[in-house]
This record gives sequence, structure tokens and C-alpha cells, in this order.
Amino acid sequence: AAPPNALDAFWMPFTPNRAWKRDPRFVTQAQGMHYVAPDGRRILDAIAGLWCVNAGHCHPKIVEAVRAQAGQLDFASSFGLGHPAAFEYANCLTEAAPEGFNRVFFAGSGSEAVDTALKLALAFHAVQGQGQRTKLVGRQRSYHGVGFGGLSVAGIGSQRKHFGPLLPGVSHLPHTHDPRQNAFSRGRPEHGGEAFADALEGILYAQDPSTIAAVIVEPVAGSTGVLVPPQGYLERLRAICDRHVLLLIFDEVVTGFGRLGAAFGSQALGVMPDLICCAKGMTNGAVPMGGVLINDRVAEGLYSQPETTSEFMHGYTYSGHPLAAAAGLATLEVYQEEGLFQRAAETAPRWEAALHSLRDAQGVTDIRNIGLLGAIEFGSPAAAKAIAARCFDDGVLIRAVGEALVLSPPLAIEDSQIDQIVSTIRKCAGEV
Ligand code: PMP
Repeated sequence: AAPPNALDAFWMPFTPNRAWKRDPRFVTQAQGMHYVAPDGRRILDAIAGLWCVNAGHCHPKIVEAVRAQAGQLDFASSFGLGHPAAFEYANCLTEAAPEGFNRVFFAGSGSEAVDTALKLALAFHAVQGQGQRTKLVGRQRSYHGVGFGGLSVAGIGSQRKHFGPLLPGVSHLPHTHDPRQNAFSRGRPEHGGEAFADALEGILYAQDPSTIAAVIVEPVAGSTGVLVPPQGYLERLRAICDRHVLLLIFDEVVTGFGRLGAAFGSQALGVMPDLICCAKGMTNGAVPMGGVLINDRVAEGLYSQPETTSEFMHGYTYSGHPLAAAAGLATLEVYQEEGLFQRAAETAPRWEAALHSLRDAQGVTDIRNIGLLGAIEFGSPAAAKAIAARCFDDGVLIRAVGEALVLSPPLAIEDSQIDQIVSTIRKCAGEV
């Protein structure tokens, strides 16, 4: 049977089906802030593709870089060969990264980046004679991709179903969303941060801290509904990790590349992890790519002894792929030349005010925002889904996850486009 529509095809093997072309949600082109449907209808992209097209669709500079690279060097293995695109990109990426992050492992997606980071954390301890540190801590309502490592630490039980037992020894922190305390809070909620983070102490006490390798969190949980950590939460996680010699991994697949108003969310939030996973905005969605940035502590731990340099055997055929690296380099240049991270920071207050103006819209039960991320929550998943579908018919692409509409527009979103998003949500919420 054919999938019900082109959008659902994401979750199942693609089935050749020419009828898809008549699906009104089939898109054939994109430019800047908009998708274009076969009938020429323009759809404002309020989710930046899938949290990735931060510089807008089909940016001419990125298109040209990919085109030029494709004609010059299509592929070169990262095993025993080098090519300029990957090195130039690595140089620029580590310059944009927080201070002390001077190495990057390239991967092909966010899921690969997460699995790479988890393996790096275990290898880091093993190389230092701490091979008993094999356990990992994730968080409820987190998403870390679809690999077995990412699934194990992610906090969505329904996605783990059928795939057990996954990695042994994984514990999950509680998620940080408490609507009783923090409904309609603007930016980072004020309350509960330290108490939520102290749950890590409980896990360590129950597990024996010397058996735990790392804690992985999204600084802001994105695809599970934009759950913004309360003030003090990440700081406290950092302090507890330091006290017990655990590595802290930030999955910045969504929060990286300007989403919170700085290159990385860790910079915007002022808390530094040991490893940073990235993907999505790396290449502005143009070519698949992921990566893990590691700080000097991790690099020195892994590579301080000459005899351990070969301990971490890990790489992909497409690690540092020339087309991805060329796209990544051009993307970073676009972000910098157009000042898009700064622009996101400057737009954030206006974004916050616009989203919160929906407080009295039909059926709204909560609103969350940080940087250029947002979530508008309704009473039920069915309502959120119906409103998102209606918004699409009215020319605005928004994602529904659970009870929330989640928003993550390209960073150069204009005031009039923010107004369009908000007025479309208000109208469609009233109709559903
Ligand atoms: N981590 C996070 C935080 C994500 O949001 C995603 C994708 N939504 C991933 C990992 C997985 O990335 P990919 O789909 O590129 O494998």
C-alpha cells in the first residue's frame, strides 16, 4: 500500500508511487524562506527544512560551492588521503567552536555524530585505565537520532520499543519540563533548574559514579517539543560531571549554528561540555553531514600516549566527504558574512513577543521560546496535528510533535514573516 502522503514517507521505506506528485504537500523547489509547490504556491518554511536550513533555502553561495566541488573532486577517502575541502572546513569550524575545541570527527548525520560521541567517551576513559566506566546517562524526552547508541540514551520509550535490550547500563534523567511551575515562561524558566539537575546525583549514588562514562543532553530538547532548561540546570550538570570525572556531551544537532544566537548553544547558554555533536545546520541542509567537536581535555586524554593513537578506530566512508565539506565551508562563510548568528540574537526578543501574543489564541495551553526556537502547546496531539495541517494549507510549514507546534525558522526571518506565522497559527487554531 502506498504511504498516505509524501510527508509520512520519511518514516518508511520509499515506495515508488507516481501518485505522490499529485499530493498537495509535494514540493519541487525552494528559495530563501519558502518552499514552492508544483502549482507555484509558496509556503513559508517556519521549521527551516527540519531544523537545518538556517541560512535559507538554495543559498547561491552554497549551491555554487557544491557545484564547483562536484566538478573538481567528487570523492577522496579520509583513510590515507587528504583533500583541501575537509581540512579548510575543519579549520574554520574549530575556529567558530567554543574555545578549547580544536578537533572534529566528521560523520554523515546527527545519528552518526551521536554514536561517535558515545564511543569517544568510552574510549577516553578506557585509554586512561578507566575501562570500567561504560555506563551512560541520557534524559527523558530527549532525541538523539536512530542509531542504537542514540536510541539507547534518548528518552522516547515508544521509539525504543522493539529494539531492546539496546546498550546496557543507561539511566535517564528526568526531563526539565514542568508546566505547573513554568507554563508560559519566556526564555529560560526561573524555577527548578538545580533540583532537576540534582537527579543526576541520585543516579550516580545508585549506580556507583566510577562506572559512568558520560552524560548526554540536548542543551534545549528540540524535536520533542522545545523544552527549555531552567536557569542553573546545565551549570549544575556541569559541576556534578566535574566532581565525578564524567564527560558531558551536548547534542547540538538543533542548537548549533545560530539557533540560540551564537555559533553553538553552549556559547549562547554559557556552559561548556566536553564533546559537541552537530549536523543539520552544518551544511544548511544542502548535503548530509554530521560531526563531533572535542575539547583539548578529551583530545589529550585520547591521544597523549603514542601507543594509544590507534585506540579509537572509528570512521565512515563518507567522513569529511568533499561535497559535504565544501557545503559546510560555504555555509559557515555565509553565516559569518551575513552575520546570521547575531541577527538571530537580535530577532529573538521580537520572536518571543510574537509567540507569546498567542497566549489568548484558541486552545493554547503553553508557549515556550529561546533564541529562534519556539513551541505552542495545545490540549491534544490531534489538535496540534490538525492545526499544523491547516497552517500548511494556509501557506506556512510548521511541525507538530505531540501536543505542540514546534517552530525553528531560518535565521534571517523578517518581522513580516514572523507576523504571518503567528497570524496563521491564530487563525487555524480558531478554526480547528
Ligand atoms: N540529535 C538531535 C538533537 C536531533 O534533533 C536529531 C535529528 N532531529 C538527531 C540527533 C539525528 O540527526 P539525523 O536525523 O541527522 O541522524
